[in-house]
Amino acid sequence: MNLSRKLTWFSTGLLLLLLIVVNIGIYFMFSYNSQQAELERGLNQAHIISKQISEQATVEEATQLFELSVVHDGVIRLIAEDGLPYLQTTLNLSLLRDLPSIYTINEQSESMIHKNERYGVARIPIIWADGSVLTLEYVERMNIHEQTMQMLRIVLIIATVAILIPTYFAGKALSRIIVTPIKNLTKTMESIRKSGTFKKITLQKEQGDELVQVGHTFNHMIELLEQNFKNQQRFISDASHELRTPLTVIESYAKLLKRWGKAKPEVLDESIEAIYSESLRMKSLTNQLLDSIKNQSYLDSHGEFTSSIEEVLSECIKNLKQAYQREFKWSGIKEGLLVQLNPLELKQIFYILFENAIKYSDGNIEVTTKREDQYVVISIKDQGIGIEPDHIPFIFERFYRVDEARSRDTGGSGLGLSIAKGLVEKYKGDILVKSEPGKFTIFTLKLPIGKGVIQ
Ligand code: ADP
Repeated sequence: MNLSRKLTWFSTGLLLLLLIVVNIGIYFMFSYNSQQAELERGLNQAHIISKQISEQATVEEATQLFELSVVHDGVIRLIAEDGLPYLQTTLNLSLLRDLPSIYTINEQSESMIHKNERYGVARIPIIWADGSVLTLEYVERMNIHEQTMQMLRIVLIIATVAILIPTYFAGKALSRIIVTPIKNLTKTMESIRKSGTFKKITLQKEQGDELVQVGHTFNHMIELLEQNFKNQQRFISDASHELRTPLTVIESYAKLLKRWGKAKPEVLDESIEAIYSESLRMKSLTNQLLDSIKNQSYLDSHGEFTSSIEEVLSECIKNLKQAYQREFKWSGIKEGLLVQLNPLELKQIFYILFENAIKYSDGNIEVTTKREDQYVVISIKDQGIGIEPDHIPFIFERFYRVDEARSRDTGGSGLGLSIAKGLVEKYKGDILVKSEPGKFTIFTLKLPIGKGVIQ
């Protein structure tokens, strides 16, 4: 049974159960009251007859009165002390046969069933003309009670049906409201499973109930999954593309070594050198890839760090001068500039920006440092090839390279700037770029001022 049917039947069934309980309650309460009223009426009738009898002296006169007072289907009789009827009048002989002859000097009333019909029996004591005490029994069919109860049964059945039918349809409509979005969700999930593509649910309302929120959450989740899937695809294709070239070079040199390595020492030297340099490239690329993945996962968590710009920047400049034989010009405030960054990550950001400046320019690299409100602002400017405006919005994306052939020549992998941006944003800083193709490129770092003690 599907959810919609379950909801409909459950709500209707529950209401039916409640109605049955309430109806039974109403029915029996009403039946009791109406029976009591009928029995009361029987007793009154018996009293009226008793009053009239006491004034009558003879049996004939009493019989005459009984015949006048007895109702169709009823019985009026006098029962003697020995339990035998003394005088009786009826048009219903079968009832008379079934009626137990009870002598009592107390007033009493009860109901009895004869041939599926209910009768009210009233007994009262009376003093007969000879001074003996007899029981006057007055029996009458409970017509009004029976009719009222039948009417009540019909009314209750009609009312139950009249309540149940709209409830059933309302339940059906309500369950459809609840189930339709779930069905859509299931259908979309099923189609995603079958086609292997990411699909979203079409939502009617912009803001709404919990079910619409489920739809929104599902759509956000799909967006995230799609984005992650795309990133993964791009990562796999770019990483395998980048690694294929050095592996091919290593393989070809290994082959050369196998054939000529032992005989020709110059081939040996050249091959070892090439394999060594290619393996270095692969190592650095792998490290960069790993860094960029790690970067994604620890972006949210960071402790309280403080670094000195003077210390970190001067160490970076010294190392890079030595390695690349390039000149750096540093102007602006140098001393006392603190930032809220881990020094190792600050160094990583500087290396990425300086290595790009070194790769994409030949002249001096200019660095300026200053304070601006609650930030330390560091600009790194090179007089190099620059970046076309069309490319600027994308250079911070993972694996994005302005010119793939040129980047590969210069050893680029398109990961550096995305790592740098991730690190800067982790510490609530910003990284901006300004460039004029063929003239210059300026990368500006805005880093929050550090307050603590240098780590
Ligand atoms: P790569 O490893 O390819 O340099 P990055 O993410 O560091 O990757 O840089 C992305 C792209 O931005 C580079 O391919 C390059 O074309 C461009 N770029 C970055 N820095 C500079 C710069 N200083 N001058 C010119 N182009 C740059």
